[in-house]
This record gives sequence, C-alpha cells and structure tokens, in this order.
Amino acid sequence: MPSIVLVAVGLAGGIALAAHRAGSLTPSGALAATIVGSLAMLAGQAWGVYLVLWFVSASLVSRMGVHVKRRRTASVLPPREARDVWQVLANGGVFALLAVWTLWHIWRGGPEPASSGAAIMAASALAAAGADTLATEIGTWLGGTPRSLRTGQAVPPGTSGAVSLAGSLALLAGALGYAGMAAGLDLIDSDAWPVVAVAAAVGALADSLLGAWLQTERWCASCREPTEQNPHVCGSLTTRRRGWTALDNDGVNLLCTVTGATVAGIWYALWH
Ligand SMILES: [Zn+2]
Repeated sequence: MPSIVLVAVGLAGGIALAAHRAGSLTPSGALAATIVGSLAMLAGQAWGVYLVLWFVSASLVSRMGVHVKRRRTASVLPPREARDVWQVLANGGVFALLAVWTLWHIWRGGPEPASSGAAIMAASALAAAGADTLATEIGTWLGGTPRSLRTGQAVPPGTSGAVSLAGSLALLAGALGYAGMAAGLDLIDSDAWPVVAVAAAVGALADSLLGAWLQTERWCASCREPTEQNPHVCGSLTTRRRGWTALDNDGVNLLCTVTGATVAGIWYALWH
C-alpha cells in the first residue's frame, strides 16, 4: 500500500510541477493539485486519468487565443494569473471529496465502486467545471459581443453571467465530451453518460445564472461600464454595483461543481 501512495503522489506531483513551470499553477495551486491528483489516482486508474485529461484540456483551451482574449476582456477581468489553491479547490474540491469517500469505501472492503454514485457525481462535478471553462474560454475568444442573462443587454466580453452563441455551443460540446470521456475511461457505466452530460450542462448553466444575479459586479464611473477590476484598467477606482460581496469567481465555480454533482446524485438516488 505505501508504495502505491508514493507512486500516486510522485505522478500527481510531477504533473503539478510541470504545470507550475508552465505558468498554469502557483506554488500553493501546485500543492493543492498534488493532493487532489494523488487522491484521484488512489481512488482508481479511471479517476486519475479522467482528472489528468480534464486538467490538460482545460489548460490547453485556456491558452488558445490568449492574446485575443486578453485584449477583449482587458477592461472587465483582472489580469490572468496562474491558478492558486482556491481556484484548484473551487474546481477540484468536490471531485477530491468524492475520491476520499470512494477510498474509504474500498478500504472498508466494499465492492468495486466503478459504477457507484460517487463516481457519477465526481465525473459530473468535473464535467460541469470543464463545460463552464470551455464556454468561458471559447466564448471570450470567438463569441462576439455576449448578452447578459439578467438584462438581455449587450455587455463587454468576459462579463460574468453573459452568454454568446459560440460559448453556449462550447458548453454543450464540453458537457457531452467530458461525459463521453468518463464513460470511455470506465469511470462510469457506459449507459450513464447522458446523466453526466445533463448534470454538467446544468452545473455550467448555474454558473452563468449565479454570475448574472449574485456575483459581485463593480462599476467604473469614468468609463461607464461594468467590470470585475478595482482599480479599473483606466486607473479610476470602481464601486460595487450589485451582487454578494462574498461570492467571487471561485465561489461561483465551486457552486457549479456542487450543482453538477447534486444533479447526478439525485438521479442516482431516484432512478439507479
Ligand atoms: Zn474605467
């Protein structure tokens, strides 16, 4: 058993270190990713491979068209930085808790949990975060001018709770893609992929709705435009216009994964 733990920590740590060197993770983010990755690999090979493929795909899509995205969101979003511990936990915390639950189940001598509710919920949590990442990254890159879900008005690209056609299509493609990946890797039963796809889409949609109605939105009086920056890119201080102070982007991402896992959990409890 201890040698398996060493292999898992070594593999997860190596990937996290490479991501840190590539500028995707801060030191605290790399430490959190090592812990989440180790737990996933110990819970089962499919858990580990699914997490790694999710991480690689999310990192790649974040890097695509990065100069275009930076220019298009320059007045709305804070400068893009490497993911820290809170961003890693917001995306992977629910998945890690379900991996711990599965490990405990294995340790107690339960049956092989490949088809268990925990695996379906974990696959859905990450699929929701992945679908949301694809929607955000593709939307800010190729999505033209998005519209706010709350007001229906055109808003600057990068505004939380705004959607575009390209972003919405990317959301659906992501939900289907990650669900198919979970089934292909035998993390879930092959006939459970529609559940994961629906749960992922609902979770990513919840992310946009929370972004539109509850997430903190600031206002630059000089430029007369909404932003998440303070000070604004123009140098003026911004004021909080709406939203709940405690709910930042990490909080919204966490609720996205909780929603995905909950939808899948309800399905499992009622119909499995
Ligand atoms: Zn301004």
